[in-house]
Amino acid sequence: MLLTLTAFSMELAQRLNRVSEPQTIKMAKLSRELKAKGINIIDLSLGEPDFRTPQHICDAAVAAMNEGYTKYPPVAGFADLRQAICHKLQRDNNLTYAPEEVMVSTGAKQSLANAVLSIVNPGDEVLIPTPYWVTYRAQVQLAEGIVKYIPGTIENDFKITPQQLEAAITDKTRLFMYSSPCNPTGSVYSKDELAALAEVFKRHPQVFIISDEIYEYINYVGHHESIAQFLELRDRVVLVNGFSKGFAMTGWRLGYIAANKEIVAACEKLQGQFTSGANSIAERAGIAALTGDLTPSKQMTQAFKERRDYVISTLQSIPGVKATMPDGAFYAFPDISSFFGKSDGETTIKNDEDLAMFLLHKGNITTVSGSAFGADNCIRISFATSLDMLKEALERMRKTLALLK
Ligand code: PLP
Repeated sequence: MLLTLTAFSMELAQRLNRVSEPQTIKMAKLSRELKAKGINIIDLSLGEPDFRTPQHICDAAVAAMNEGYTKYPPVAGFADLRQAICHKLQRDNNLTYAPEEVMVSTGAKQSLANAVLSIVNPGDEVLIPTPYWVTYRAQVQLAEGIVKYIPGTIENDFKITPQQLEAAITDKTRLFMYSSPCNPTGSVYSKDELAALAEVFKRHPQVFIISDEIYEYINYVGHHESIAQFLELRDRVVLVNGFSKGFAMTGWRLGYIAANKEIVAACEKLQGQFTSGANSIAERAGIAALTGDLTPSKQMTQAFKERRDYVISTLQSIPGVKATMPDGAFYAFPDISSFFGKSDGETTIKNDEDLAMFLLHKGNITTVSGSAFGADNCIRISFATSLDMLKEALERMRKTLALLK
């Protein structure tokens, strides 16, 4: 699918035609515009915690500035931050990595871009289970790879099976990319489920795996499992993680990978030309995040869990909405296809995008259409906002959907 949402009057590079503006960002922009006109919009489109960054992390940034950490850091990140990441991987995930197998970037988004550009050649096939995070497709298209989707169904909690994976792999498959906990569905692969997928990957040694674990700490079912734990795969797995979600640090722009040394060296080469490395002050703050008290992160997860329970039980009580219980992240991803073909006498809902627009204009709530994530029967609702706001938003949603007959 080639989408150009921005009209350029100048003739610019053709690669721009391969990517579209993320629907999430488009909806957030629209929501801001309506708010600026004085309309009381509740924005449930955002993928960021509504909490402030914990104080001890902010204090570390201030101290870093005062201590003179204001110069270029090493391209791959400060040595002590890379070391802190190794400790974190050992402590939380029982994974052993050396500092030269770790690299820091300007957000997990850049970590992903570095990895995709380091692995994918033009024409290579990249497998992405649906629903997927919007950016995966765009990054693969920029690398001139060919995206092949593996459909995750609501019946299977939006997870793929080993049989589906086996059937999707061809001689041209170069990479498999996924997130667990998943944005947008909140699905979490268990150790057994990952072990079964790992068995398939063992039979296909040409396939790399990008495992996006950015929502690791926002997990409601217990221990986070990484596919990097299966040692036979270890050299082909690029584990991606970051600080945005678990530490409420979206604006700091700090993420990292753990991978084979050669992949890290390739990413470092690219990053050296793109950014010269991540922000030095954010990096110092990142050390405080990883080595400091995790209580604020745990409290945030507890708050997300209460909101999840409220949001899902309320959605399940709205006629026509089919919602599964997310095990992680902070999104509900209900199936709203029962409204397709219905009308309030003025607007007829043909698809998920129409429904998202209907909710925005008639209900003053911003959501994101599922087609942005490869699932056009659904919409995404972020519950990274206060319980009071969520109560008001879901009341508006119930009333607005009831208009459709
Ligand atoms: N991966 C997933 C699945 C995400 O949802 C996001 C942010 O929304 C990211 C990566 C990017 O995180 P960062 O803010 O570290 O770039």
